[in-house]
Amino acid sequence: MFYIHCPYCDEYRDEEEFHPKGQAHIARPEDPESCTDEQWGAYLFFRDNPRGIHHELWVHAIGCRKFFNITRNSASYEILETYRMGEQPRFSAEHPEGKSAEQGAAVNVADEAGVVAGQEGVKA
Ligand SMILES: [Zn+2]
Repeated sequence: MFYIHCPYCDEYRDEEEFHPKGQAHIARPEDPESCTDEQWGAYLFFRDNPRGIHHELWVHAIGCRKFFNITRNSASYEILETYRMGEQPRFSAEHPEGKSAEQGAAVNVADEAGVVAGQEGVKA
């Protein structure tokens, strides 16, 4: 059993409250009517299955019921961050150590440093 940080509730909650919904950041074709069958089929059915860092869509099903993204290492199961819809991930296969704030990192990073910084902010 482990805990997942919900970026909307801003709490670590039991994994059983969440459901994975597959690969994140899949762009719907801008004009579905002009897609080829191959393009539409690729959008609907084909997903990456990388070994290492990738991004997943999850929902806090027994909680706020909002969708958010998780950056996870599929080899170690480590969750590197969670972030809200519309935000960009800090970690990626191209940036395994994480982007700096200047490079457009996500605001809600679910690492221990973020939690400590947040708690210190409350005490101050
Ligand atoms: Zn939540």
